[in-house]
Amino acid sequence: MANRAQTFSLQRIIFLSVSVVLCVQVGWWIKLQIRESGRLLAARSQALKAGRAEAWQMDSLRVLTYIHGQPDPSSRRGAIEGRVPSMPSLEERRQAIHSTFPYVAMVPYPVAPDDPPLLDGSAYLTLRPEPLAELERQERHAIIRTGSEGAFMVVAVLFGFVVLYRKLSEELGLKLRQRNFTSAVTHELKTPIASLKVWTETLFTRSLGEEQRQRIRGLMEKDLDRLNELVGNLLDVARAESGSLVLHTAPLELAPWLRGVCEGMDHRLGPGALGLKLETTPEPLWAQADPKALGTVIENLLSNAFKYAAEPRETTVTLDGDGEDILIVVSDLGHGIAAKDLPRIFHRFFRVGDEMTRQVSGTGLGLFLVKEIVTRHGGEVRVSSRGLGLGSAFTIRLPRLAPPLEAPQEATAPDPTGSLEAG
Ligand code: ADP
Repeated sequence: MANRAQTFSLQRIIFLSVSVVLCVQVGWWIKLQIRESGRLLAARSQALKAGRAEAWQMDSLRVLTYIHGQPDPSSRRGAIEGRVPSMPSLEERRQAIHSTFPYVAMVPYPVAPDDPPLLDGSAYLTLRPEPLAELERQERHAIIRTGSEGAFMVVAVLFGFVVLYRKLSEELGLKLRQRNFTSAVTHELKTPIASLKVWTETLFTRSLGEEQRQRIRGLMEKDLDRLNELVGNLLDVARAESGSLVLHTAPLELAPWLRGVCEGMDHRLGPGALGLKLETTPEPLWAQADPKALGTVIENLLSNAFKYAAEPRETTVTLDGDGEDILIVVSDLGHGIAAKDLPRIFHRFFRVGDEMTRQVSGTGLGLFLVKEIVTRHGGEVRVSSRGLGLGSAFTIRLPRLAPPLEAPQEATAPDPTGSLEAG
């Protein structure tokens, strides 16, 4: 138990650490992306400013050309040879700048602190607000895109981790349960075999009175029953898993069949030991069922009601109709089941890890088999318990069958004498 808890907490720590590392990595990636896009945008804004400087240079050349009265040989917009260019008007200069640098505006006062004045001081050059706003918009967009991509990445990877974690936990749980199961089966097989060996030796090596022989015979029968039940359950589980558990169903009247099964179990577990009370409705209830397989279901539930309750036991089996369904409820006032264990109670190999129940022998296959058989009958089984020490109730719901016109031969379990109380 401690090992199991340790393994699970180690697994949890590994997954948690990996998730944290992943989140840090993605956070770092987002930061890097944002910084890169910031750099890119800063470079673009620098390019715009460089354009403003070029515009200033171009305009200054025109002004200088006029001032010196000489055409400027390096200017693309230089004067036509032989003509001294006249001083262009401010409007002409604005047009010239606008046609080459559409994002540069000529303004009477500086808008930004670094806006340069024209060479003749008649105006200032500034960057138009639209391209700057566009750059800011692009930056915001890049940050949002990077953030959402990162968030999506984190969510997707965390989701994958959770799925993987669950799968691994399931696998690990099954593996651990399987390990427990192997030791439980070994114990379950060894105990009656050892006991049978002792009784056989006693029978053949000692001279015993008739009463003693009968007592030993009863004890040996109990051991054989235990072995038989275990082997039967193992076989049925193997068949259920391989899909070869074949049901031989036929219309079955449930009340007499259930009485037979209950009396058989009462006899087997020791008359009166279950404190069994059977309550059935007078109305005949029929189902399409395999009496032997469904018998195994009731036997497993009654066997558990015996194992997981202290004396004096009080076990109740009720049979009732519920619309289109039939309900069979097996309830006891025994140890009960904690709410946290209820969802896993029908899992293969699952046994409640409580010390009190751990002292009780078992393999964790009984309820798995119960569920398999009931499901194959088109029904369902549910468990409820008000908590530890407050007993449990298993409710089987089966589809109801209209009573056949001609009742077939009743298939009931053997009817040994028992101490069953009728409801
Ligand atoms: P097994 O009895 O062989 O351990 P089962 O599959 O029949 O296996 O039951 C699984 C577990 O469910 C048991 O180990 C026990 O802890 C719990 N359980 C089953 N029936 C009862 C009950 N009537 N009262 C309390 N606990 C129960």
